[in-house]
Amino acid sequence: LLHNEYLDLKGNVRVFCRVKPLLNDKRPGRVVSAVTPLLSQVLVSVAGKKKAFQLDKVFAPAASQDDVFAEVGPLIRSALDGHNVCIFAYGQTGAGKTFTMEGTKDSPGIVPRSLQLLFHQSSLDCNKRYDFTFSMLELYMGSMRDLLVSNSRRISESSPSLSIQMDPRGGVEVENLTEYIVKDVYEASQLYLIGSKARATAKTNSNAFSSRSHCLIRITMASYGQSCPYPVLSKLWLIDLGGSERLLKTDAKGRILEEGKAINLSLSALGDVISALQRRQSHIPYRNSKLTQILRDSLGEDAKTIMLVHVSSREEDVSETTCTLTFATRAR
Ligand code: ADP
Ligand code: MG
Repeated sequence: LLHNEYLDLKGNVRVFCRVKPLLNDKRPGRVVSAVTPLLSQVLVSVAGKKKAFQLDKVFAPAASQDDVFAEVGPLIRSALDGHNVCIFAYGQTGAGKTFTMEGTKDSPGIVPRSLQLLFHQSSLDCNKRYDFTFSMLELYMGSMRDLLVSNSRRISESSPSLSIQMDPRGGVEVENLTEYIVKDVYEASQLYLIGSKARATAKTNSNAFSSRSHCLIRITMASYGQSCPYPVLSKLWLIDLGGSERLLKTDAKGRILEEGKAINLSLSALGDVISALQRRQSHIPYRNSKLTQILRDSLGEDAKTIMLVHVSSREEDVSETTCTLTFATRAR
């Protein structure tokens, strides 16, 4: 099948899996890998038997950030052409979501590369002019937090709380979310840095916080062409989802348990929406979580989505790996 034919047959969602290398492992003894990455399949050894999971593409542990971005880049171009785009990183805590989205200084991930590509690509088109905005928010146990509101404003509580508003035509707006106009990749990168710092601060102030929260970056674009009097509007969402690991009831108590329930609820709501879209069902259950409400106009119809699931290859993580791949298979 050609790529376009594939997209016609199914929803516009592509599901990839990235397998984390066994590197930087400080624990002694032989580390056993239970995962075999193939081209578009992952084999998982469960109790001596190999289980196969089908995906659109698999990134083996040796895959580089370049390799991953080669698949993501075309969607960034689609966003410039007027499509709403969502790129998700899914997986258990430690499986490499933030490495894929943010990356490191030496090995930048999807977010910095997307910013670079957006501004570079838009400057090449002489027939169009683009306006960009940048916003960043965190979703945690059903409450939303603006990551670009200054600390002093947040503490003095002069900043109004965020809420989701829908217009009659189905467009979604996060009311009171700070939206900065960005002129170049430098301005956007500065905001990304500020937002990431705000997220990290919360992490050290409350134990499990960051691994259990979703981090959403929204870039809006308006393109003005010569022949069309109206701008073409689109949104690009870059989303580092909260850790998908299940909690053992015996280990988790109180707040931690509540956190686990909240995240599992929103992740399964996301899975339900994507699965319904892929199967072209008439009812898409957007209303079941804040996450899917916010993304309502960016999932489905003319929108394009990449779900990048992350798995550890360690034998002891096999049960989470199986869960993650089951989620991936449902979304495909
Ligand atoms: P998550 O965000 O899913 O909790 P991280 O991205 O923080 O996981 O990854 C955990 C650790 O593993 C980090 O130190 C990260 O740099 C490293 N890591 C993850 N994926 C890779 C990879 N593909 N190559 C090299 N290091 C990785
Ligand atoms: Mg992370």
